[in-house]
Amino acid sequence: MPVPEAAVFERLRGFAAVDANQEHASRTINEVFTGRALGEVPVGTAADVTLAFEKARAAQREWAARPARERAEVLERYRALVVDNREYLMDVIQAETGKARWAAQEEIMGLIFAARYFARVAPQLLGSHKVPGAFPILNRTAVRSQPKGVVGVIAPWNYPMLLSIGDSLPALLAGNAVVVKPDSQTPYSSLSNVELLWQAGVPKDLLQVIPGPGGVVGTAIVEACDYMMFTGSSATGRTLAEQCGRRLIGFSAELGGKNPMIVTRGANLNKAAKAAVRACFSNAGQLCISIERLYVERAVADEFTEKFVAAVKAAKLGTAYDYSTDIGSLISEAQLETVTKHVADATSKGAKVLAGGNARPDIGPLFFEPTVLSEVTDAMECGRDETFGPLVSIYPVADVEEAIARANDTDYGLNASVWAASKAEGERIAERLHAGTVCVDEGYAPAWGSTGAPMGGMGLSGVGRRHGPDGLLKFTEPQTVVVTRFLNLDAPWGISQERWQPFLMAIARGIRFLPGR
Ligand code: NAP
Repeated sequence: MPVPEAAVFERLRGFAAVDANQEHASRTINEVFTGRALGEVPVGTAADVTLAFEKARAAQREWAARPARERAEVLERYRALVVDNREYLMDVIQAETGKARWAAQEEIMGLIFAARYFARVAPQLLGSHKVPGAFPILNRTAVRSQPKGVVGVIAPWNYPMLLSIGDSLPALLAGNAVVVKPDSQTPYSSLSNVELLWQAGVPKDLLQVIPGPGGVVGTAIVEACDYMMFTGSSATGRTLAEQCGRRLIGFSAELGGKNPMIVTRGANLNKAAKAAVRACFSNAGQLCISIERLYVERAVADEFTEKFVAAVKAAKLGTAYDYSTDIGSLISEAQLETVTKHVADATSKGAKVLAGGNARPDIGPLFFEPTVLSEVTDAMECGRDETFGPLVSIYPVADVEEAIARANDTDYGLNASVWAASKAEGERIAERLHAGTVCVDEGYAPAWGSTGAPMGGMGLSGVGRRHGPDGLLKFTEPQTVVVTRFLNLDAPWGISQERWQPFLMAIARGIRFLPGR
């Protein structure tokens, strides 16, 4: 399968929400596998953001007035269009990220799961809910959800379609407009969905994608939006949290991780070793929830390591736009530099290379072998810092207690994986791990794919959650409406306060016996 033609990218350029009456600088986007130019996109400005928000606010008012069921139908149509256009969308993802085809498919599956889950639950979750009022019979109390307004979505380059458009879907469904800033390296993944959303019935100005630098376009979005959804590094997340805090707007952030996997002595080592390759090296390790630390009970450490290293060495690197490869490229010189630096630092301080360890310019300019290190210590950069590349450290541990203690010895808390003698043992270990998601007998994928459950991080790994009911309701403002009937709280019929107030107190004291309290 060849890379999409230049005409495809030229067309996508036209979906960037920039002011056509103004001159814009351009940024060239390269095919990662070869370094050749795919096309150019305009570099957005703060003025483009101002204009986009004006249009978005007008579109949002009309959209929010539609019933949630109607908005859900639009999302269902979008899901069907994603399924129909999946090969094209995967080509676009692969071209600008350099990931293997199956990792691109993970993004498409993520979009399909998110669209289906949110479309299914939104009408019920966004509807009005009765709750017990302050005083029985006198008060009829209901809670409903209002949209925030215009939501800003700032996305990274690693899963650029899923983390830009996938996070926009619940925001749209909740009745908001969305302004997206894709990462500067990967604008096409977001732009390729604009037309599909229009075809599905999303009004033109309701979702706008503005490519451009974080410090300009991103900052302007944070200053204008009513809620910020961010995915990226913990450092940028902290900066945006401060800006959102100053503006007193809601903020949700999915950040970095240093995710552990635990393998106990009773685990199925063949299965664990095979699955660990995917868990560590999906998108060449450039995945927030991928595994960078492996804790294996000493009794089975040699056997597991032998199987794992053999599987890693057998993994096929390549540039194909089909399913014939296991691992693709890193995305940028900066990523290649970080991985090279972490490996060099570790080996210079005594770490041993069990597999990989080298760049592979013979395959493509930004390829690096999947690398397994042993004897890694906290004095090494990759000991505690996120590498965000194809590098994993393996640590034999005395027992499960040590594995849990070391897995939790991190400022992050995003994802963890457990392989144990039984599902029950796996679940018992999972309960003791400080991580937003834990997969028993898998690496990360089912946690992401369980769209009905919250997904996100503890500690430095994030604030708030995507997916699950909260993944929709965070884009809304709950509003409580209380209707008072028959009597107000003032003393009626000339009753004195001395008699009326004890009567109210008697009701308050007895109220706990009423149903629903
Ligand atoms: P990053 O540098 O924080 O960039 C992410 C996005 O933020 C980009 O669009 C970037 O724009 C923008 N940005 C940067 N500085 C900004 C600022 N001052 N104001 C507004 N926007 C700004 O992160 P990255 O290095 O690309 O992504 C890798 C990190 O993301 C890793 O740590 C990874 O673990 C994390 N991540 C987490 C998840 C998750 O779900 N938890 C998922 C994926 C990735 P430009 O670069 O275009 O200027």
